[in-house]
Amino acid sequence: MQFFFQTAEEIGLFRSTLPFCQCPACGMTGAMIRHGYTYWFISPTENGIRGWRIRCKPSNHHEGCGATWLLRLGDTLPRRCFPAKQLWAFIQTLLDARSLKQAWERSGFPCSLDTAYRLYRRLQRCQTVLRTHLCARGPPPRGKTGVPLFQVFAHLEKEFGILSPITAYQISFQKDFLAVA
Ligand SMILES: [Zn+2]
Repeated sequence: MQFFFQTAEEIGLFRSTLPFCQCPACGMTGAMIRHGYTYWFISPTENGIRGWRIRCKPSNHHEGCGATWLLRLGDTLPRRCFPAKQLWAFIQTLLDARSLKQAWERSGFPCSLDTAYRLYRRLQRCQTVLRTHLCARGPPPRGKTGVPLFQVFAHLEKEFGILSPITAYQISFQKDFLAVA
């Protein structure tokens, strides 16, 4: 089942097909329903719909399992106030900068420096998962040496282009970019 989408319209369309969808957990068809929204930052200063919840609903007619899922836009990152494209802009600045602090200052990243350090450590922890997925899609670019994490970013760019590769990654693999497992 699809969890990441390009646009809110695609999510709306998908939700209208729920009565015909099979539950990914229990396999039941006809038990999936819309189950409200989750709200979170859609920009550093603004709250809005960040997730469209769906549920496999137990009822008199169905033996739904009660599991819930979240449908999301490919450009969102869980529990982060900045979108995927802003993370990519930060990563690109990082590749040219002398230090993380300098990249943070240059990119105007909308979080504290501490958050930027935490984010970098998180990216390091995501490396293995990212590399595994990217290698399944294509070989890493040739001739890239240096910091292993930066090699992963080069691989990401090779597979998905420079524009918004994190969004494309999430939609293509149906997987959180910041997932550690
Ligand atoms: Zn179910």
